[in-house]
Amino acid sequence: MMMIRLTINGKEDTDMEFDTQLLHGGISEDERTGAMSIPIYNASTFHQPKLGQNQYEYSRSGNPTREAVESLIATIEHGTAGFAFASGLAAISTVFNLFQSGDHMVIGDDVYGGTFRMVDAVFKRMGMTFTIVDTRNLAAVEAAITPATKAIYLESPTNPLLKITDIEAIATLAHKHDLLAIIDNTFASPYIQKPLDMGVDIVIHSASKYLGGHSDVIAGLVVTKDPELGERIGYLQNALGGILAPQESWLLQRGMKTLGLRMRAHLANAEAVFAFLKARPEVAKIYYPGDPDNPDYAVAKKQMHGFGAMISFELQPGLSPVTFVEQLKVITLAESLGALESLIEVPALMTHGAIPREVRLQSGIQDELIRLSVGVEDKDDLLADLTQAFDGLKK
Ligand SMILES: *Cc1c(COP(=O)(O)O)cnc(C)c1O
Repeated sequence: MMMIRLTINGKEDTDMEFDTQLLHGGISEDERTGAMSIPIYNASTFHQPKLGQNQYEYSRSGNPTREAVESLIATIEHGTAGFAFASGLAAISTVFNLFQSGDHMVIGDDVYGGTFRMVDAVFKRMGMTFTIVDTRNLAAVEAAITPATKAIYLESPTNPLLKITDIEAIATLAHKHDLLAIIDNTFASPYIQKPLDMGVDIVIHSASKYLGGHSDVIAGLVVTKDPELGERIGYLQNALGGILAPQESWLLQRGMKTLGLRMRAHLANAEAVFAFLKARPEVAKIYYPGDPDNPDYAVAKKQMHGFGAMISFELQPGLSPVTFVEQLKVITLAESLGALESLIEVPALMTHGAIPREVRLQSGIQDELIRLSVGVEDKDDLLADLTQAFDGLKK
């Protein structure tokens, strides 16, 4: 765990702008040498010159490289404590260990497939219960709350339909009923929204996506604002042990430094790709929070700083999504998202393939749906690539 020190050049500074925080926030240089890249401390244990008076004891409990990335995520999410884990799912499962047998949670109906599997196959077995609801519907969320409910867990935007929930309204509702509001902020990134500022208690990231950004690291992060809640997560991080290793911590912090630069490029390309797709006759339906015709547009505009760089769309019936994605040359057919490279996939056959077809169709994920994570390649190359793939559908 790392409680953050908001300092810049040794001075207290809580008012740095986001891009400056990415470079100078948290622990951004090595105290001993001034190295501007935090060293990779591959040490499992630390000498104690006087018993118990040392800063570090054992790297599961605390490691200087991990603390650097933990302090950075705490700073940029406007929290007070950050925690780094070996994967997004390790972060989520650690947070779920705040609860116990008999506890109930209200969960968003379009959460990450791995989260759903964890709830369904692991935590249910341990005696927890869950109600799945569309968190955009506040009345439905409130109706799902029982005396055993301990938390509301959501994503916004969701995967793959990019539904937007009013985060502040959910946090207010949670606190009215003495519940924790927990959000997986992976699809937005802290560049686009900072849920702790909207009243949320715990923010989680799969840092394998936008935060890492370079398709080269699997990692998870958790941030809290309330110090007592931070203590509890810190205890669980050490007790359960799913920590991020020093090498990965360094790689993640290195990637995070350019989050602002990358997000601006992602957002500009996403707007261009959206406008292009919206005008194509082969596209039957498009899901993008920045579409003024999207029912969630007003909420997205209110709470997001940019609409994200994920776009999902359905081809007209009869057009093959598989042929389409296989014909692309620049845009890469792959799972995952938030990479520098544009990634495209067919949820029904790939990321959401494990969900039974009727359940999938019920939640609105059609066979024809395609999910695109817009990267930072030159916009003209992306549009040209999409054009040739659309043209290829007619041959
Ligand atoms: C990828 C992802 C996860 C899981 O993260 P891993 O790093 O792959 O364990 C969780 N939530 C969302 C929204 C994701 O996209």
